[in-house]
Amino acid sequence: MKNITIAIDGFSSTGKSTIAKELANKLKYVYVDSGAMYRAVTLYAMQHNLISEEIFLKEKLINELANINLGFKFNPDLGFAEIYLNGVNVEAEIRNMKVSRLVSKVAEVPEVRKKLVEQQQKMGMHKGVVMDGRDIGTVVFPSAELKIFMTASAEKRAKRRFDEFVARGEQVTFEETLKNVEYRDHIDTTREDSPLVKANDAIEIDNSTLTRKEQFEKVYKLAIEIIESD
Ligand code: C5P
Repeated sequence: MKNITIAIDGFSSTGKSTIAKELANKLKYVYVDSGAMYRAVTLYAMQHNLISEEIFLKEKLINELANINLGFKFNPDLGFAEIYLNGVNVEAEIRNMKVSRLVSKVAEVPEVRKKLVEQQQKMGMHKGVVMDGRDIGTVVFPSAELKIFMTASAEKRAKRRFDEFVARGEQVTFEETLKNVEYRDHIDTTREDSPLVKANDAIEIDNSTLTRKEQFEKVYKLAIEIIESD
């Protein structure tokens, strides 16, 4: 069986990472959450007072990029790789609302994108990888054998994110969560460098109408067809 590259792109909270993780586990592929990398750089910027709601010391962040070391380590209990920022596991911390509010600003910076895209391409060099994000099928792996583009209504996505926040005990309202989803959609689709767009050869899946199991089966079938073809 040949190894392929699978790119899963789409809007925030469409369930991309759930499908990508399941798919990687089933195929025994490596799963890479590229959004976690943008979130970890954002967390670094927050920790070093380079970004807040009021300020963004972009040039300073660019100058510090060489000091930001990101890595993934597989956690067998969770069944996926967690992200480490300069040796510290930040998997939980990067999911909070504060990071969510600031991450799209950081992800607009071309120097940040260049650094992370290079690292992502290295991680996928030997194929056998499922990567999810916004620009995986268009910029990171334009020749990926399978490209999926996931969509769903903003309300549906905000509900997913809100339930996750509530489960973690974070104090946020549904309206705030919906606003954040819409705000990130806006920045992600209108930024100059690598905006979120569906690659011409990507297969679109609208998860407003499919159950998680149906989505997985659809994507898995597409992957197997390619893996088993000559
Ligand atoms: O996937 P997730 O929602 O965790 O991504 C967080 C943010 O990181 C996105 O809203 C987007 O601004 C940015 N991102 C990106 N390119 C990627 C992955 C994420 O710009 N490949």
